[in-house]
Amino acid sequence: MNNIRIAENFHLHEFQCKDGSHQVVLHSELLRRLQQMRSALGRPLIINSGYRNAEHNARVGGSPGSYHLRGMAADIVVRGLPPAELAAAARKAGFRGIGSYSSFVHVDIRDQRTEWKG
Ligand SMILES: [Zn+2]
Repeated sequence: MNNIRIAENFHLHEFQCKDGSHQVVLHSELLRRLQQMRSALGRPLIINSGYRNAEHNARVGGSPGSYHLRGMAADIVVRGLPPAELAAAARKAGFRGIGSYSSFVHVDIRDQRTEWKG
């Protein structure tokens, strides 16, 4: 299900809610910037968390206003690439919300530029 290619290096199922529901909401700008990053890095970009429905978001401790609820955020990993370098690539690709954590980087397409460390 959702095994449809939506960009050069991404399939729709990579963004669906991880609760087994196959639900997915995806903003086109999020996908465009992720593909831009993927192409610049030339390495697989793993989506740890894309869309979350409200129940799943609450279960994983997401904030009630999370951009994941609107298909505007992704938590990403590139094997062998430190989060600081991944965050720099996200900045270059035009992401405005960038959160660096020890094992992943959160990127989103909010209106205002904001960066934080988790
Ligand atoms: Zn996130």
